[in-house]
This record gives sequence, structure tokens and C-alpha cells, in this order.
Amino acid sequence: MRSGLRAKFCTLIILLLLAAFPVQAGDTLFQYSTIDALMAGLYDGGLSVAELKKRGNFGLGTFNDLDGEMVVLDGQVCQVKSDGKVHLAGDALKTPFAAVTVFTPELSQVINKAGSLKELTELLDKALPSSNLFYAVKIQGRFPQMTVRSVPRQVRPYPPLAQAVEKQTVFPLKEVEGTLVGLRCPAYARNINVPGYHFHFLTQDRTQGGHVLDCALENLTAQIDVIHGFSMILPKDQEFYQVDLSGEKGKELEKVEKRK
Ligand code: ZN
Repeated sequence: MRSGLRAKFCTLIILLLLAAFPVQAGDTLFQYSTIDALMAGLYDGGLSVAELKKRGNFGLGTFNDLDGEMVVLDGQVCQVKSDGKVHLAGDALKTPFAAVTVFTPELSQVINKAGSLKELTELLDKALPSSNLFYAVKIQGRFPQMTVRSVPRQVRPYPPLAQAVEKQTVFPLKEVEGTLVGLRCPAYARNINVPGYHFHFLTQDRTQGGHVLDCALENLTAQIDVIHGFSMILPKDQEFYQVDLSGEKGKELEKVEKRK
């Protein structure tokens, strides 16, 4: 083949491939640092809220000093502190761990009745095309029951996360209007992010919320963003360079995520 013809042929193949596998800008989960680094007590990250907002408008995480739960919804970054108050996070505030995406739902699933978070996750799983992809899940409406928690700000020397959450504050909410902001990571992503579902919650009036420990709901629709891309930025500091991340923290993580 002559080189001009070959170049045209190659261009055509690339265009055909792009058409067959369109990767949209929003089809990536972006995260900063790893869940195991957070578990190890690395609570001072270098990524600002301003930088995080450039990567997505939907997601969750925490803030430096482990100062509360982060809920990212409609491009707003909210900070639920351990006293239960919700603040709009300033752009200069930094995070040691967060994951966001540009929320573009492709699927929706009506949840007729879920009596617990476990039931909800089982119903959602049935709606997913594969357990090997990443997902963002948004459920908006009135929840008869919603149990959320937040974690208190830590001071150095930082304890591991399992120890820090022993001092969590739990808020049992009833008949509350709001939005579940969730991510689902595949099992193979353990050590990097939380395998399975991870939900945070924010009330409609943005005055209450936190990390979801349990909930119940009826006749609400889950909007699901199927995510094929994953991008991660790691901290540029000696603490991250030196921390031992070679072990398995599965059991400890379960305690942190589901502790009531
Ligand atoms: Zn959480």
C-alpha cells in the first residue's frame, strides 16, 4: 500500500473504532489517593476542592484531618462535620481521599421496597450489566429511614481509620427528603477504593447528611452511571511514599464502613 493510502486507511480504522467504542468525557471515575492509605491514617492530602471539582460533579470522600464526610452533588462539595452541621466546602480546602465522576446516568432502576442498605445493594446489583465495572448511583426522594454518620476531626499523631471511627457520631434520620450519592467499585479494586457500594447522603435542604450506615426506601428510582474509565492521582509527599500498603485491610475496612 502506498503511504498516502495507508495513512487514509489507518485514519478510517481509528474513526470506526471510535464510533464503535465511544468513551465519553464523563465515563471516568477519578480518585485521589487510596482507601488503604486513608485506613493507615494518612489524613493530610494535597488535592484541593477546586481541583477535585474539575474532575467531576458527583462523588464522595473526606477532608484533611479527617474533618467530616464529603458529599459531592450537582457540582457542590459539601462537608458534613461530626456535629452534624453541613458546610459548603471552600475551594482551598484539601482532601486526603475522594472519588468523583461527571454524572451521566445510562440506566435507571425502580426500587419498589428496600428495608435495609443490604437489600438495596442486592436489588441494585440485579440491574447492573456486570460486577466488573465502576458505577455511580443516585437515588433522590423521601426516605422513611436513613442512618448516617460523620467522623470527628483528628489531630496528629493520627490514629488509623478503624480507631478514628470509634468516635463517630451517628444520626438516625426519619422521613427525610434527600439524595443518596453512591459509588460501586469492583472487588478487584479493593486496596484502592471500597469494593462494592459506598453511599453518602445529603438532605434536600443541605442541612444534614453523612456516610450511610443503613437506610430504607420505597418506590424510588435509582439512576445509574456505568463507568468504564478509572483515573487516579497519588499524593506527592513522604508520608505516602513511606507508608506500607502491601497488606490486606479488608476486615478492617468492613468495620470502618459498616460500624454502627
Ligand atoms: Zn463514606
